[in-house]
Amino acid sequence: MEIIYTKKELIQYRDNCRISNKTIGFVPTMGALHMGHISLVQQAQKNVDNVIASIFINPTQFNNKDDFKNYPSTIDQDIELLIQYGCNAVFIPTVDEIYGQYDYQPFTVDLGDLGNIFEGEKRPGHFDGVIEILHILFELLQPNQVYMGLKDYQQVMVVEKLLQNNDVPIQLIKCATIREKDGLAISSRNKRLSPEERETALNLFKSMSEIKEKYPFSDISILKKSYFNQLNSIDNIEVEYIDIVDSQTLKSINSWNPPGKNLILIAAFVGKVRLIDNLLF
Ligand code: AMP
Repeated sequence: MEIIYTKKELIQYRDNCRISNKTIGFVPTMGALHMGHISLVQQAQKNVDNVIASIFINPTQFNNKDDFKNYPSTIDQDIELLIQYGCNAVFIPTVDEIYGQYDYQPFTVDLGDLGNIFEGEKRPGHFDGVIEILHILFELLQPNQVYMGLKDYQQVMVVEKLLQNNDVPIQLIKCATIREKDGLAISSRNKRLSPEERETALNLFKSMSEIKEKYPFSDISILKKSYFNQLNSIDNIEVEYIDIVDSQTLKSINSWNPPGKNLILIAAFVGKVRLIDNLLF
């Protein structure tokens, strides 16, 4: 596996792929890799010639300094894992390499309402940071496809908007959420949970599954309120939001959509760790 540290080398990698007529699939990550990330690599391997991951804890997308400071970093293990699963290359830049002396014009996308709800509301500036880093990476690498997880459902919608605005045609491949056997969505942040907190965190998936079971007969607004209260009453859980929304607009719904278009969105602190999850049905 090629390990790339600089933008210059990344451009070289891209050009080499072009010259040899090889398609590129890109898997952007913040590292502390797990099977959720690997599932993206594996899906890319089915469709493109060369799969390249990136590992970059992007400071501009963290609205909370402690979250940034405590974000897990396991670079050596990450590289081992990517080699084990046959990834072709990984880009591991420093913050200075990305943002230092960069003649890049700040770039934004008008997200409309999408930017002000859920993660956009609770993490001001977060999506601006995501857009900024992905725009930089897309311009440098110009992959044929980018693979992103629906675990970050709203982020996928944001990237869709970014790509509509982009000059370079890049196909977005949306990948299903990988869960532990007991239902917990795999996340790098899970590494910061104590064993007891991990047990507590299972309640997020459990609640979403129970709500799904009540489709389409229960009253939506009653469901939302009762699960918000129920989860909040559990020790060590503080719910930021739990909502049932239209899966295409993320607008809150009060009557059920047809199958496949109802989405539960949840964000909660378990101890000091902020987790998000969602369920589409
Ligand atoms: P992150 O390193 O958390 O920024 O995630 C990098 C990519 O992996 C994003 O596209 C995430 O949506 C995706 N991802 C994270 N966790 C999972 C998971 N459990 N299943 C599928 N994709 C995931």
